[in-house]
Amino acid sequence: MTTATTTDVTLSAELAGPAPHGSAGVLDAYQRSVMNTFGPPKRVFVRGEGCYVWDADGRRHLDLLAGIAVNALGHAHPTVLAAVTGQISTLGHVSNFFATPAQVALAGRLAGLTGDPDAKVFFTNSGTEANEAAFKITRMTGRTKIISTEGAFHGRSMGALAITHNPKYRAPFEPLPGDVTFVPYGDAEALAAVVDETVAAVVLEPIQGENGVVVPPPGYLARARELCDAAGALLWIDEVQTGMGRTGSWLVHTAQGVTADVVTLAKGLGNGFPVGACLATGRAATLLGPGSHGTTFGGNPVASIAGLAVINVIERDGLLENATAMGEHLVATVEGLGHPLVDHVRGRGLLRGIVLNADVAPAVADLALEAGFVVNAPRPHVLRIAPPLIITAAQLDTFTEALPGFLDTAARTAAA
Ligand SMILES: *Cc1c(COP(=O)(O)O)cnc(C)c1O
Repeated sequence: MTTATTTDVTLSAELAGPAPHGSAGVLDAYQRSVMNTFGPPKRVFVRGEGCYVWDADGRRHLDLLAGIAVNALGHAHPTVLAAVTGQISTLGHVSNFFATPAQVALAGRLAGLTGDPDAKVFFTNSGTEANEAAFKITRMTGRTKIISTEGAFHGRSMGALAITHNPKYRAPFEPLPGDVTFVPYGDAEALAAVVDETVAAVVLEPIQGENGVVVPPPGYLARARELCDAAGALLWIDEVQTGMGRTGSWLVHTAQGVTADVVTLAKGLGNGFPVGACLATGRAATLLGPGSHGTTFGGNPVASIAGLAVINVIERDGLLENATAMGEHLVATVEGLGHPLVDHVRGRGLLRGIVLNADVAPAVADLALEAGFVVNAPRPHVLRIAPPLIITAAQLDTFTEALPGFLDTAARTAAA
């Protein structure tokens, strides 16, 4: 066995080539060589530790977005680091002609989270791919119709885009795979009106993350379950953003006593290592067979060990409880500001939307970034807060104390 030496570590740093100096140099190079699908990057980050990230100019930021609900354990978590380096120095990849212990261990842990220990998993590298697998499962039912919701986000591949609502994302790529019907989100009666025996599946986010952390009324998921049962349709719950402890429970729908036929996961699952999963229970677990789907990287042992490390640390360190407590703390302190621009704070656990009374959320996010806080604005009137689940009240309070200043400046600028 070979072990990494100091020389090897130096070499791996050299592989990246001579680093352009400071943020400006990197941004320049970015613009020349990276496709412009995301707009100009707002910062160049070079290092992270716990809830903080440092930019290429040495400035520290409190990361209240966690790579969009990804870094549940924060940056450079020692357990993930040890697990991933241990696995990659033992066995990094074998293809799906073969099995590995890490892969089956993660499959078993995830099945346990669905409430059905017989649930089966198809591993992927992203949330989009998890939803593609789910889409293909629905086609194997012999029906084609899918019911999705207005405001839904499920990814950008052609299949995932077909069930994503935003016309801005969809229009250039039509025709998309059909046949998909969109109904208003959170409206059980609108679902009841369209779910019949021609429907293959109903796909729902238990909280709409990209749409601005929109929480449906109580009983919505349970009613969707009843409607699907009556129609013989699959209930497909997309927990890519909400799952893996983000909201204070492993999964939002199981915490409400609802069982899904298909569950998709990704973001928080690997703490930044790309790993996604499409889980299926009952009949849905048997619909894909040899040749009907596949992946080269999905389920590779390094990604799988990252997922196992995340689950173990969330359990060991009581991070579901911390997510619940810190989420409630954030709501109480932000609403307690009594600021006229803050309408209310919605969401669950540490997936929160600060709903504003004016469309100044992008400006507020920019001002926060200037002051060293990473947040984002999924909607013009909503700020999203999705920090690592390890965050402390003292860390959250630094943001809450600074927030009125950002709101006042944004309002003044908007009025000018
Ligand atoms: C982010 C997201 C996706 C897409 O996941 P990627 O890993 O970006 O492919 C799908 N569904 C939901 C609910 C998401 O938030």
